[in-house]
Amino acid sequence: MQNKGALAPPHAIFANNSGLCADCAHARLIRSDRGATFVQCQLSITDPRFAKYPRLPVLSCGGYAKQAANK
Ligand code: SF4
Repeated sequence: MQNKGALAPPHAIFANNSGLCADCAHARLIRSDRGATFVQCQLSITDPRFAKYPRLPVLSCGGYAKQAANK
């Protein structure tokens, strides 16, 4: 029996659906009270060319900066 109330881990949703934002240094993962997960682009704070909540998946972006690998 499937548990319809179960949610995938937020980071799994993030990695699967967000395209370039998944490993961009400017992305911040936001989780709403209702359990929805969003990507907030931190570049939007200082640069109006970038959407605060970009439409996912982002396939091309001039602001993309790959995150440093975790050690
Ligand atoms: S700069 Fe582009 S790739 Fe990076 S978080 Fe913002 S929208 Fe996503």
